Parts: sequence; C-alpha cells; structure tokens
Amino acid sequence: MTWAAGQVSKLKVVHVARAALPWRKAAPAVSECGLELPGLVHPEELHRQIKDLGVRRVAMGTCMTCLEAARRHAYTWDDDPRRVLRRYLDRELPANYGRQKGTQLRQELAALAALAEAHPAEFTALLDRQAWLARKAATGK
Ligand SMILES: [Zn+2]
Repeated sequence: MTWAAGQVSKLKVVHVARAALPWRKAAPAVSECGLELPGLVHPEELHRQIKDLGVRRVAMGTCMTCLEAARRHAYTWDDDPRRVLRRYLDRELPANYGRQKGTQLRQELAALAALAEAHPAEFTALLDRQAWLARKAATGK
C-alpha cells in the first residue's frame, strides 16, 4: 500500500489528555500536545492499549507528540502534584523559549494563596495531614 500525496496528513489520530489539575475538572481537558479538544484519550487508557497492542500499533492512530509525552510523563496529581504543576507552568510560562500563553495558572495560584491566607487554621490542618500521610507512607504505620 502506498500513500497518495497529502493522504498521510489526513489520517485521523487521537490525542491524549494531560494529567489534570484538580481544580480544573470542569474545564476542557488539555492534550499532551497542548490542544483543548473534546474526546481526549485518558492516559491510563493509552497505557492499557500499549500493554495490549504494543506501542507501534497504538502509535498508528495516536498523535506522536501526545504519545511520547504521555509515555515520558506517566504520572498523575496523586502521584506527585509538583510534576503535574511544572508541566502547566512550562505551558503558560515557557522558561527558555516561546511566548507566555495566558495567565490562568497565575490567577489560580493567586486564588489558592488567598484561600490559604483567608483560612489559616484549615490550611495548617491540611498541611499537618499531608505530613502525617507522608510519615505513614514512609514508615508503613
Ligand atoms: Zn496531540
């Protein structure tokens, strides 16, 4: 089988959702390649397909940028919020190249800081709980 000119670029591919920020659940998901599209494949589904079919078969119908990024950044907010946040920071405020893309994350972080300042007791209690969970995970007790 040979491809006619322009045919390859018309192949429909699926894009993979980036690990989501917990406060953006109602917002449109962002793909690993940076698009806001409906119908993105969940990363867990992608990894299940790769396990079942192999990466080459899955790659035939998947955006290559999404596929590579999803394999390279296979973590969720629950795994490590810092890693997820870093990707959104890099998207909104590229360190080495590109222009700033919006200010949504900047506004969200300012709102989170304002919430912490408005509710210091709850914030401290939540931090204590996170420290307790970390100790429990480290010691198994
Ligand atoms: Zn993509």
